[in-house]
Amino acid sequence: MFELRPYQKESLEGIYRSLGNSNHCIVVQSPPRTGKTVLMAEIARRTTAKGNKILFIVHRKEIIDQVRRTFTEQKVKPEFCQIGMVQTFSRHIDRLAKPDVILVDEAHHALASSYRKVLDAFPNAVKLLFTATPVRLGRQQLDQIATDIVEGKQIQDLIDMGFLAKFRYFARKQIDEDKLKKSSTGDFTVDSMTEALTTGIYSTVVKEYRERVNGQQAVVYWFSVETAKKCAQAFQNSGISAAEIDGDTPDNIRDDIVQKFRDGKIKVLSNVNLFTEGIDLPNVDCVIMARPTQSLALYLQFAMRCLNPRQGKTATIIDMVDNWRRHGLPSDHRDWKKMMVTGKKRKSSGGGVGGMGICQCPKCLAVWNSQEVRDNDNTCLDPACGHNPVLPVQERKLKLKQGEIVEIDQSERRRRDFFERLMKKQIMNNIGCKRPYELSSYQECQQYAALHGYKKGWAYHYAKDHGLPGLPHN
Ligand SMILES: [Zn+2]
Repeated sequence: MFELRPYQKESLEGIYRSLGNSNHCIVVQSPPRTGKTVLMAEIARRTTAKGNKILFIVHRKEIIDQVRRTFTEQKVKPEFCQIGMVQTFSRHIDRLAKPDVILVDEAHHALASSYRKVLDAFPNAVKLLFTATPVRLGRQQLDQIATDIVEGKQIQDLIDMGFLAKFRYFARKQIDEDKLKKSSTGDFTVDSMTEALTTGIYSTVVKEYRERVNGQQAVVYWFSVETAKKCAQAFQNSGISAAEIDGDTPDNIRDDIVQKFRDGKIKVLSNVNLFTEGIDLPNVDCVIMARPTQSLALYLQFAMRCLNPRQGKTATIIDMVDNWRRHGLPSDHRDWKKMMVTGKKRKSSGGGVGGMGICQCPKCLAVWNSQEVRDNDNTCLDPACGHNPVLPVQERKLKLKQGEIVEIDQSERRRRDFFERLMKKQIMNNIGCKRPYELSSYQECQQYAALHGYKKGWAYHYAKDHGLPGLPHN
């Protein structure tokens, strides 16, 4: 049996507290890769130990076996436990034994009609909705069915405590943003993603792998079988062991490939949405994202696939498709309670350029938290790089219609203030400790005047009197 980790115990206490406050449908949030199944198994053990019944709803067939294994290890009584896919349950509700507790895995999907059908069929059951990202594309959020949320630890806290690996994030954009089109589900269409890729993307992926993480175990995420296959081929062509798997790969071949990857015989796994939740791959060092997505859930599942901790490990995330601008860093602080409220369309999913401050080093392409870079004198946080200055990311220019007035919002204003401060700082660096007789050009005189609050004409006259270059010709 597993001993719960401290943060899992906190979640469990949070659930009991919420139940004590008469909530019956509760969202339980915890980041990917933090042992959600173990927590669910512990709840199932306690429930079934008293002879009460569990209904466990999963989203993907692949994880049923894994859930069963964990439940057996955790001594959940199988006779009181029904585990299955939402599609199966929703089609055969009349055959289900009436559950006392319903556990929903990957519950950010729970507003779909198939889930609602099952959940609504048992109004008296306690419903616990487990997800790493209690937010969905579109307006309706989980507050439509849940009355409370138990929030887990923030990702950065779990990294600091050693439950998740540290990581570095690099971004080398290989898509044309303007070509991406959204489907009715709110995410990008496969056709438009294919269209948006640069022709050089496959060789660039291989190059990035070679230069940054050569020899490490990497998973590459694509959006179509064709692109995933081309990528695996590109790796093989340059002598790196790689394989492609997707939903149609026969089970025996897939199991074989996964085993070879676990053994380190295959270095790179190119796949289509396969290794999101569920399938266990403990030894991933690097994730390469070649699928742009609007879904924060998908983004975090991709990015965090490589964060299983190991002594001394620093994982590497390489983003080829600008997902960091949409969602920020995986470790950005997110207010889930706010995000799961139905309402106005969100400007961003709690991160990204519109939300938290992030910036990119133009030299090594690392993505950092702006505040940390600011605290480091605008110098790249990688000491081996040390580039200066690293500046905040500009949002894409607003396209204005004629006559339209746009108010500069707070973040824009903050950014402007920051640039002004930075300008001042550069002036300080240039002439901060100079005396007037050390000034060597009209421009420096102007800066000196601005710094010391001298009157306008001072710089001109001083430069003219002292024969300094750079005076404007009248
Ligand atoms: Zn750098």
